[in-house]
Formats: sequence, C-alpha cells, structure tokens
Amino acid sequence: MSAPAPSELAFVPFVSVDNMMKLVHHIGIEKMLSGIADYVEEDFRRWELFDKTPRVASHSKEGVIELMPTSDGETYGFKYVNGHPKNTKEGLQTVTAFGLLADVYTGYPVLVTEMTVLTALRTAATSAVVAKYLAPKDAHTMAMIGNGAQSEFQALAMKEICGIKTLRLYDVDPKATEKLMRNLEGRGLTLQSCKSAEEAALGAQIITTCTADKQNATVLSDNMVGTGVHINAIGGDCPGKTELASGILARSDVFVEYPPQTRIEGEIQQMPEDFPVTEIWKVITGQAEGRKDERQITLFDGVGFATEDFSALRYVRDQLKGTGLYHDLDMLADPDDPRDLFGMVMRAEPESGDAA
Ligand code: NAD
Repeated sequence: MSAPAPSELAFVPFVSVDNMMKLVHHIGIEKMLSGIADYVEEDFRRWELFDKTPRVASHSKEGVIELMPTSDGETYGFKYVNGHPKNTKEGLQTVTAFGLLADVYTGYPVLVTEMTVLTALRTAATSAVVAKYLAPKDAHTMAMIGNGAQSEFQALAMKEICGIKTLRLYDVDPKATEKLMRNLEGRGLTLQSCKSAEEAALGAQIITTCTADKQNATVLSDNMVGTGVHINAIGGDCPGKTELASGILARSDVFVEYPPQTRIEGEIQQMPEDFPVTEIWKVITGQAEGRKDERQITLFDGVGFATEDFSALRYVRDQLKGTGLYHDLDMLADPDDPRDLFGMVMRAEPESGDAA
C-alpha cells in the first residue's frame, strides 16, 4: 500500500450521536440492519484472518468497562463499552460505547464514532445472522424477554432477516413493554404483551433473552423451553451475569462467537470448562453443522465479539462517504516537518502583547 498524502490524514471523521441518528434515517433502519448483518457475516467468513483476544474488562461493584480490539491485517478497530445495569434507575444507559478504526499501514485513525446506537444495531444484526443459520426454517414468532434499549433493534433485525412476524413480549417492568409496543407500532409486527416469561415463550420458535441484571438470574427455566426452539441469549455477558437455568444448556447445542471469551462471560460460565460448543463462524462457512433436526434446541450464547464491532465500523465508514454526516476531528498532530513537533507547538505561542 502506498503512503497517503499527509493532507488526507490531518482530520479524522467523527460521527456524533446526532449524526448516527441521521445516518440511520438516511439509510433506513431495516436496510441498515441488513447492511450491517452482511458485513458481520462477511467478517465471520474471514474469521481466521483476524487478531483475536477476549475483551479486556475492568470490573467494579456497579458494572464493567471493556475494550474490544481486533485487526484484519489492513485495518485495526476497537470499541470502548460499559455495562452498568443499575444505570437506568439513574436515568442513564446500561450500555454506552464509542469506537475507532485505524489504518494498519500508517497507524493513523480513519474513523471515530459513537457506538451506543451502533452497538444496538450490530448486536441485533449478529443475532439475526446467527438465527438465519440456526432457527427453525418456518420461524414466525419470537419471544422477547427484556424490553429495554436493545429490544426494538433485535425485533426489527429478526423481522427483516429471519421473517419474524409476531413478537411475544415480557419484561419485569411493564413500562418497558409499553415503550416497545409504542415504538414498534405500525412496523409490520404483531405485538403481544405477556404476563410472564413462560407465557411469552409459548408458541415461539425463537426466544430472545435480553435482560440486564448483575447476577446469575433465571430468566428462563428449563420447563419453559420446548423442543425445536432457537434461543438467542444475549443479556448474560459478564462473569456472574447469566440468564438461563443450566438445565437448558445441558439440553441444547450451544453456539458461540469466540470460546475463550464466552467461557468467561457467557451462559456457559455455569458449565464445566470442557462443555462442548460450536463456533458460529464454522457453521457459516460450512465447516460445522448448525441445526440438525426439528427437535434440537439451538442456543446462541451471544456475548458480543470485537469482529462484530469491526464489521459495524467498516459499514459506517463505507456509508459515510458523500453524506456529510460527520465532523472533521482535529486529533492528529500534523507538523510540516514530522520531526518538528516542538516547532509546531511553538508556532501557536501568542504574539507578545496578546492576552495569555
Ligand atoms: P436495559 O437496561 O435497557 O434493558 C434491560 C431490561 O431487562 C429492562 O427493561 C429490565 O426491566 C428487564 N429485566 C431485568 N430483569 C428481568 C427479568 N428477570 N425478566 C424480564 N425482564 C427483565 O439494557 P439493554 O441495553 O437492553 O441490554 C440488555 C442486556 O444485553 C444487558 O445485560 C447488556 O449488557 C446486554 N448486551 C449484550 C450485548 C451482546 O452483544 N451480547 C450487546 C448489548 C447489550
């Protein structure tokens, strides 16, 4: 790769929350979910190329702050993300994030963006890509347990990519379900509010659990899960934070993103270290079997992996061109002589007589 002209590198495009919201409307939310899903799938197909490491987590009593880096050899990316279930009670998001892409050749950043909205989009896109491979072929009804910030995105991606038509909703807080129903009214989904997780799971071919609680919760117990369903379990994503009864895991074929991270953070942290799992990229590339029969319970133990953020960042970078939906960020020092950083700083010295 030849060196880009220095002038091309002086500013880094930055996508604010405001501009991300505008980009969602510019593209259309369903189209954007499908577009990100295509990039996520494409990167699962290139899985072996990527630098992979479990995310670097800093835990506290209240939550977790994590860094999620990866590279495909040409481009490097990372996301900063938190998970603080107590935040909503204080009027704050449980999950908030930002991220960056950089050119491996120069090491210079090429994109900085908010990733709170983008994480919801990429998590939903990933869930739908996985369900496309694992859910029963005629799946039309999804139970959505946990109706918080991620839930509408999950619902729309499952509608757009997997053909889900009916949502059966449950949240311990009925206000969350009311909010979801308001937000998704008129979007082509039949919405059914349920009084318990058990009721929501009745008649559903896909069960999504997307709750936030910093404990080993039992959002789904063994008796609620019938044969043949696909479980999309994405809320348990931290040590000591799970959603499913271990009996469900024992009856399911479990699919994961990156085992070294999922064994620390996923539902399978409840199981022995050698509990068998299948990496989802192997199913996507045809190297491993996905759904084998109508009675099998498939379980996606989704914790969110760095390559999915990388895919979403690549998508945003590619869509941004010509939209003007970014600010140029002056975050790279650009002295005329690369070795004269000091001289560049001194040129900003106020003229004598100027106020300091
Ligand atoms: P949120 O706080 O906005 O919503 C969570 C909802 O779960 C709330 O409405 C809450 O009332 C409900 N809830 C809590 N316990 C419940 C229970 N036992 N039964 C039913 N409902 C219950 O959080 P969010 O942003 O929607 O995220 C949900 C979870 O998903 C979080 O734990 C988050 O860390 C996780 N997450 C995972 C990924 C991933 O890639 N796997 C990505 C983003 C978020």
